[in-house]
Amino acid sequence: MPDNSLTLEAPAENPSGANDTAGRPDPAPTKVGFVSLGCPKNLVDSEVMMGMLVEAGAVLTNRADQADIIVVNTCSFIDSAQQESVNTILEMAQHKTNGKARKLVVAGCLVERYRNQIQQQIPEVDAVVGTGELEHILQAAGIELPSRPATSPSPFRILSSRAEGDSRESRGRFSREDWDGAIADLPDYLYTDATPRILATPGYSAYIKIAEGCDHPCTFCIIPQLRGKFRSRRFESVIAEAERLARRGVREITLIGQDTTCYGEDFGLQDGLALLLDKLAQISDLRWIRFLYAYPNKITPRLLDTIAGHDKICSYIDVPLQHASPGALKRMKRGAGAEIFLRSIEKMRRIIPNLTLRSSFIVGFPGETEKEFAELCDFVREAEFDWLGTFTYSDQEGAHAHSLHDKVPSREIEQRRRKLMQMQKRISRRKKKTLLGKEFDLLLEGPSSETELLWEGRTEMHAPEIDGKVFVNDFGPHENTAHPGEFYRCEVTEAKDYDLVVKLL
Ligand code: SF4
Repeated sequence: MPDNSLTLEAPAENPSGANDTAGRPDPAPTKVGFVSLGCPKNLVDSEVMMGMLVEAGAVLTNRADQADIIVVNTCSFIDSAQQESVNTILEMAQHKTNGKARKLVVAGCLVERYRNQIQQQIPEVDAVVGTGELEHILQAAGIELPSRPATSPSPFRILSSRAEGDSRESRGRFSREDWDGAIADLPDYLYTDATPRILATPGYSAYIKIAEGCDHPCTFCIIPQLRGKFRSRRFESVIAEAERLARRGVREITLIGQDTTCYGEDFGLQDGLALLLDKLAQISDLRWIRFLYAYPNKITPRLLDTIAGHDKICSYIDVPLQHASPGALKRMKRGAGAEIFLRSIEKMRRIIPNLTLRSSFIVGFPGETEKEFAELCDFVREAEFDWLGTFTYSDQEGAHAHSLHDKVPSREIEQRRRKLMQMQKRISRRKKKTLLGKEFDLLLEGPSSETELLWEGRTEMHAPEIDGKVFVNDFGPHENTAHPGEFYRCEVTEAKDYDLVVKLL
């Protein structure tokens, strides 16, 4: 399978070695292979589908050539993600044409966008499962449902919504009418603590999706049409899931959703994320809790105080700002600008000492002038983010920005991206140097994927997967006992542009 196939500890085949009542060995269970593309939110969907399949008796394999059924969970965020999804489907289709696979199932965002086209143009695809239909994975895979009342309605469909979302819906924000082949119904699914789920992350770290969908009007984004209106998981359900994960050995929880900072607003909760974090911090076996994808104007004083008030809540905020020029932000329908953002960043850093701040920006948005780009550069220089990601704008059919004029030529977009990243590299180098000689807690992760000679780990400053790396080249007193998934004290001995080298203490 491609690199993004999930490496799983699959239950052994026919683990009990059981015989059926006639004394014959049980038939070999169906082997399912999964490829999960895109973001952690999609990964959680894959984990839920894997959980349902295993509960129904399937076993998982990370070898496509051994799978009876292959599921590709696709991403449709931008053009390149769509292309990667299609390429992966075609690659996996080879295992059906020339190999062992009997069924190919395509799931995820690409299905919400191009449901009919996938089935019509890739005949090897046997079934599709949209983002709101995760429970259909069993049917799609041709695996019988376990014995539970098949007709009982899920109690976790949307029960409430946000006024903002309702009003945007009435103005067509979520409409898929122009989307050839898409079904009109928006996804409304949400998993719960009772939903089976198999972690694809290392056993000490897990994502928890606390909300799904998005009500914001960002003109470059079709996620609201793909994922539906914003809806939060029940408070108790999130806590129950976190407690269960902690009992199973998870020490780090990362809360995700399209917009985690709106958590609870759809059922009338104010400062829902702060309340949730506060409660999660009381789970004794958890060591690090963080959330990703904050919306800028939803970072409240209470949220900042909550982060600052608990050791277990990482002093880390990920707030994708997308731009800093008020003009560009207005065309993006996000509002605000550098001045407001700088004030808010100053407040975050004042309330949370040693805050790690991450953001991401889009360069080359339609109409982005030299002056607007310069405003963005000035802002990035002044804000001094610890981590920064840059996306180059690409037209997305179905997004409002598609119809905007004054498109920036792609060569210019690329040059702007490079310029911004060069600037950030200098900022990052400077900031990483200030860490030399300092001590941190380190979550040791195991041998490095880049070199066998080193191990890797993460500090509180490093969210899973997205930030720079921490290499361990000296295990100190732990030379023979260091263990992945354990926490150690470390000292920074080298600082690179983005990465750190540490020794264990
Ligand atoms: S907040 Fe994020 S997911 Fe929601 S519309 Fe804007 S970019 Fe898309």
